[in-house]
Amino acid sequence: MKHINDMIAELVDVANHPVRSVRTAMERTGKKAVGCFPIYTPDELIHAAGAIPVGMWGGPEMGNLSDRYYQTFCCSVVKANTHQALRGDYDFLSAVLVTAYCDTLKCTIENWKVAVPHLNVIPVVYPQNRKLEAGRQFLIEEFQRIRKELEKALETTITDEAIEESFALYEAYRKAMRTFVDVAGRYPGLIDATARHAIIKAACFMDKEEYTDKINALIEALEAVSAEEHGQKKIILTGLLAEPDEFLDLFGENGLVVVADDLAQESRQFRVEAAAEGDALTRMAGRIADQDGCSFLYDDEKSRGAMLIDLKNKYNADGIVYCQLKFCDPEEFDYPIVKREMEEVGIPLLYIEIEQQMDSVEQLRTRIQTFAEIL
Ligand code: SF4
Repeated sequence: MKHINDMIAELVDVANHPVRSVRTAMERTGKKAVGCFPIYTPDELIHAAGAIPVGMWGGPEMGNLSDRYYQTFCCSVVKANTHQALRGDYDFLSAVLVTAYCDTLKCTIENWKVAVPHLNVIPVVYPQNRKLEAGRQFLIEEFQRIRKELEKALETTITDEAIEESFALYEAYRKAMRTFVDVAGRYPGLIDATARHAIIKAACFMDKEEYTDKINALIEALEAVSAEEHGQKKIILTGLLAEPDEFLDLFGENGLVVVADDLAQESRQFRVEAAAEGDALTRMAGRIADQDGCSFLYDDEKSRGAMLIDLKNKYNADGIVYCQLKFCDPEEFDYPIVKREMEEVGIPLLYIEIEQQMDSVEQLRTRIQTFAEIL
C-alpha cells in the first residue's frame, strides 16, 4: 500500500491542476468531458453517457474577458468561468450544464449561448417546491430533457441500465465521502484544512470510479493508524466554498482544525443519502427534495441554523466560520438568520468575506487569529 502522504499528495495535485487532470483522465479512458456549474448538476447522467463530469468552480484567475457580459458586482466564480471559456480553456468540453439558482447564473445561460455557442450550454432548472410530488415529477422530467440534450451533444444513447449503474456508483462515492469527512478531522497533522479541501475537490476532475477507489484506500490507510492527539480548536465551515488556499492555510497556522463542513463545494454534494425506493431518476429527484439547509434550494423552514447547531454538537466543535463568497446573493440572504440563531445559542461565529482571487489575506489573518484566541 502507498504511504498516506503519497495518497494525499496525489489527490492534492489533481485539485491543483484541474485541466491537466481532466485531460489525463480523458486520454486514459477515451471518454469525453462535460462541464458542470455549481451545484447539484445531475452528474450521473453525464457518467451514464460515458463522459466525465467536470466541476467548474471558478479559479484563481478572474481576468477581464467576462467584463463584456457581467457587471462588476457579479461573483468571481461566474466571471472566472466565463473568462476561461472565452479564452478557450474549456474547448475540450462537449457540453456545459449551467444551473439557475441566481440572477447571475440565469444570465450565464443566455450569455454563454452567444459568447461560446460551441460549448453547448444545457440549462438545469430545479423546482422551487421540490418537496411536493409535482416538484419531484417536474424534476424527473427535467432530468429526461437533460438526458436528451446530453445524448445530442455527446452523440450517444443513455440507457436506463446505464443510469442505474451510474447512480449506484455515485451513491458509493457519496458514502465514501461521508466517511472521509468524518475521519479526516481526526488527523489534522496529516490532513489540514487546505489538504482536506483539495482532496474533496479532486473529485471534480477525475473519473468517478478511480476517485472513489482512491478515497476508499485513503480512508482505510487512515483508519489503520491511531487518531492524532491534538489540542487544536475544532471549527466548522459553512458557505459556497472555502478558497483560496492562502485563506485555508490560516486555520492551520492558528491551531484550528476543520472537523466538518456545510460547504456547497464539499459536504452539500454528498451528505444526502438517496431513499431506497424507485428508479434512479426518482431517487435523484428525491435527493434534491431531501437536501435541507442549502441556500441554493428554496427552504421555507430555513433549517440551516438548526443543522449547523447539530453539526456543532455532533463534532463537539468550538465555533463556526461563515465563508461568504463576495457577491453571492443566496449566501448573503442566509447570513442574518444564521447569525441570529448562533447568537441565541451562544455558538461563536466568524463571518469572513472571500474571493478566489484575493491578493492578500493579511486582514483575514488578523481576524482568524483573533477568533482562535476567543475560542
Ligand atoms: S452568486 Fe452565488 S449562486 Fe450565483 S453564480 Fe455566483 S456563486 Fe453561484
